[in-house]
Amino acid sequence: MNLTDQLFPEAVVPVLVPLPADRPYSYTVPEGMVVRPGSIVQVPLGPRQVAGVVWDGPTDAVDAKKLRPITHVFDCPPLDETMRRFVDWVADYTLSPPGLVVRMALRAPAAFDPEAWIEGIEATGEEPDRITPARKRVLSAAEDAPAWSKSGLAHAAGVSTSVVDGLLKQGVFRTVRFPPPPAVAEPDTGYGRATLSEDQAKAAGDLVAAVAKASFQPLLLEGATGSGKTEVYFEAVAAALDAGKQVLILLPEIALTQSFIDRFHARFGAPPAEWHSDVPPKKREAIWRQVAEGRVRIVAGARSSLFLPFRELGLVVVDEEHDPAYKQEDRTFYHARDMAVVRASLGGFPIVLASATPSIETRVNAVSGRYAHVRLKARHGDAALPELSLVDMRRHPPARGHFVSPVLQTEIRKTLAKGEQALLFLNRRGYAPLTLCRVCGHRFQCHNCSTWLVDHRLRGVLQCHHCGFATPRPEACPECGTLDHLVACGPGVERIAEEMVEDFPEARTIVLSSDIAGGPRRLRRELEAVADGEADIVIGTQLVAKGHHFPKMTLVGAIDADLGLANGDPRAAERTFQLLHQVTGRAGRTGLASRGLIQTYQPQHPVMQALVAADPEGFYDSEIDERRRSALPPFGRLAAIIVSAETRKDAEAHAREIRKAAPEMPEIEMLGPAEAPLAVVRGRHRFRLLVEASRRAPIQAFLRETLARAPRPRGSVQLQIDMDPQSFL
Ligand code: ADP
Ligand code: ZN
Repeated sequence: MNLTDQLFPEAVVPVLVPLPADRPYSYTVPEGMVVRPGSIVQVPLGPRQVAGVVWDGPTDAVDAKKLRPITHVFDCPPLDETMRRFVDWVADYTLSPPGLVVRMALRAPAAFDPEAWIEGIEATGEEPDRITPARKRVLSAAEDAPAWSKSGLAHAAGVSTSVVDGLLKQGVFRTVRFPPPPAVAEPDTGYGRATLSEDQAKAAGDLVAAVAKASFQPLLLEGATGSGKTEVYFEAVAAALDAGKQVLILLPEIALTQSFIDRFHARFGAPPAEWHSDVPPKKREAIWRQVAEGRVRIVAGARSSLFLPFRELGLVVVDEEHDPAYKQEDRTFYHARDMAVVRASLGGFPIVLASATPSIETRVNAVSGRYAHVRLKARHGDAALPELSLVDMRRHPPARGHFVSPVLQTEIRKTLAKGEQALLFLNRRGYAPLTLCRVCGHRFQCHNCSTWLVDHRLRGVLQCHHCGFATPRPEACPECGTLDHLVACGPGVERIAEEMVEDFPEARTIVLSSDIAGGPRRLRRELEAVADGEADIVIGTQLVAKGHHFPKMTLVGAIDADLGLANGDPRAAERTFQLLHQVTGRAGRTGLASRGLIQTYQPQHPVMQALVAADPEGFYDSEIDERRRSALPPFGRLAAIIVSAETRKDAEAHAREIRKAAPEMPEIEMLGPAEAPLAVVRGRHRFRLLVEASRRAPIQAFLRETLARAPRPRGSVQLQIDMDPQSFL
């Protein structure tokens, strides 16, 4: 037997390493080591050691002398076939290197080694040679539980550990080892089952039936805010858990509040495992490991939880499925809702997409019958939807330098008089979006980006929202030197708060935005406080729109409802409709009469009309027609190529090369390059190309061929591919 026979094919395996490599690398398996597809291994890579995953499929023919052996196989459940195909699929669809996709599945390196067992003690039944009062206390405390940690038992008995040590030495206790504790307690599916209304029971029945079939089936669960969608999908969750499956509930990160966890806890007698950016590393590792082992049965997580190594996943719920936060736009661009559908399809199980205002894409799939359409008609119980009206800002302008119209102001006063809460919504952080010098007209712009600096009065800085650059707010204009003539233009949430404090000095006013000191944890706490009635006027960005339940909130005012309509985004109308519907839906969740006031300069706009007419059907119909006419998603497909470089010239030149390299293909067209609306970010100049294709056209193949023909990016030039772009900036 010659050397080659020995090494190929069995002893050489492909290993996908978490780097921007476009294929697995080949490694040898040392004698005595056993690996299989999915095994998590450590391999040498240049001078380093990295964790990777043994992949499947053929290996590249590599000179046997250059092959290096796998260093180590981790004692860890392998990534299963579905997960491996999922990684391949996401990589292929988004044109990302598979190595970067698999990296998302390997986010907890310390979890590849088994968790340590815990040392404890248990009673043997032996009697001690003599009884002292301290020993007596230890023995009686020990009866409360079968096993203890030494210090725990000493503490419970109120004695020093030396007393326990003495009993251990005499054989009254013995040392035992326990598996690591569960990251979360086992859910009890029969625990806090709600009595469902007839409407809800029917919807739950549809979802449960899909779970019972255990085959791929997307279901759109559509119902007004407060109609009980959560209550209904909890039944599907229970059914999947009862069938021995694992379940994933995806939520936009900020909707993962304590109140959601509490609610889950009340229904299932235990909280779900949480997975989001704020979970401490140790906890993350335990959860990752126990998801892989099948010990964690249920995860509630942000989009990255889609890449957890579930072994028996049987149901995914995507709550607020229309939420733009599901789109990740750094490194690997992917849409977690869409990829969740793919994962369900590969795994052969149902997926529930829940929303009061579904995305046009999902709505079209539901109407065409590709997705089952499960609807809840009304709000649950006596909670009525708020009465919505438009405030025509041309007829009811606010006082000079103010932003709240007298109409809204009157409603706020009435609400406060009743001891209820008002929410003012404005999707703009900080105090003012622009600062200029009244004398020379100088505008404060970021040095690294083509954006205005936002005035953040609370922190005393002018800040760029794209690169984070911040500078203290100066007193003199840097251009003409004039003192005290800088003016803030336009409102941000802080400025609305200032106006409210001026108009309603007695009221407790709070600003909620991502700028809150103390980060997401503090923000979650503040949201709980608002829910407990600890504020009268809440001024917030879209963070407050999501999933929170504020019992005393009876007035919602949208300060600048037109804000989202201005940009050239094809989803501008849809987004505005969803956001305003959702924000106004925060009002009146508990049966108190409630109102929503929408301040607009375009009261005739179809979005505004649909909102006040409470006519989502009309809105969806016309918006779907519009998309169909212009062959926009989901009737056509889009992809964006973003070229950036340190100079404008380099970025533009490379973008032009890409355009030239684009092949002729039927039903696919490349537009651009055009300078991006956000022309400079972090000192990088940006150009965009847009690919428009019919649904049938092979858009990925087109992109691949284009990139293969185009020159490789050189120098500072970088490329980003954004399939199904949600942002056009
Ligand atoms: P959605 O998810 O559609 O916004 P939720 O599931 O949050 O609606 O329900 C709104 C409120 O109504 C919640 O406080 C929920 O506990 C309550 N609720 C809904 N259905 C029921 C039910 N069948 N029994 C008791 N309370 C319910
Ligand atoms: Zn900047």
